Amino acid sequence: MERLQKVIAQAGIASRRKAEELIKEGQVKVNGKVVTELGTKVTRSDKVEVNGVRIEGEEPVYYLLYKPTGVISSVSDDKGRKVVTDFFPLLKQRVYPIGRLDYDTSGILLLTNDGDFANLLMHPKYEVDKVYVAKVKGIPLREKTRELERGIQLEDGKTAPAKVKVLSVDKKKGTAIVQLIIHEGRNRQVRRMLEAIGHQVLKLKRERFGFLGVEGLRPGEARALSPHEVKQLR
Ligand code: URA
Repeated sequence: MERLQKVIAQAGIASRRKAEELIKEGQVKVNGKVVTELGTKVTRSDKVEVNGVRIEGEEPVYYLLYKPTGVISSVSDDKGRKVVTDFFPLLKQRVYPIGRLDYDTSGILLLTNDGDFANLLMHPKYEVDKVYVAKVKGIPLREKTRELERGIQLEDGKTAPAKVKVLSVDKKKGTAIVQLIIHEGRNRQVRRMLEAIGHQVLKLKRERFGFLGVEGLRPGEARALSPHEVKQLR
């Protein structure tokens, strides 16, 4: 048994708050009857409709994918390129990625069919540390990495302070490996932050999402999150 607003939110139709409004406004039916009581509990076999549209009572599922490079963080691509859901050919639930990694970025990506959970993790207030490791052109100076630690001005505003570590340098090749820890998730944020201090990103991997990493997986492999892991993320 689940609360009606949670079932609606999980279906990805509305946030939990918006789902509550829909119920109060009389726009939700359970087994053909309008329900305006917020505490109403339903099971997956109950027929839930929002504005006349049936919600599929799919079992929520949660996966961790080690995304390889050369894959789009989407459920389909009009140019026919490989997408992250191609790694789940046998899954009957329709999952989608929680946020995105660039086509050329590898690393940890979570996927689910639980809209409520996805909204929560993508909300700007959800401040989980994401650990990125980048190979950059040039060798960053301390004064430059300090700019990232203070927060740096990008086109779409100043970033929150990042934690930055230069892990290694290759003086011969003129490249460095830099670890960057941020909790925001703006579009191409890590690449833009490093470019803002003069270093082009040659390779980028997201190593950790909070307490989760890709240990034990090879690129292209996925595993289900345990119920405990899902609870910890909420
Ligand atoms: N920042 C980027 O620049 N790219 C990613 O894929 C993720 C974070």
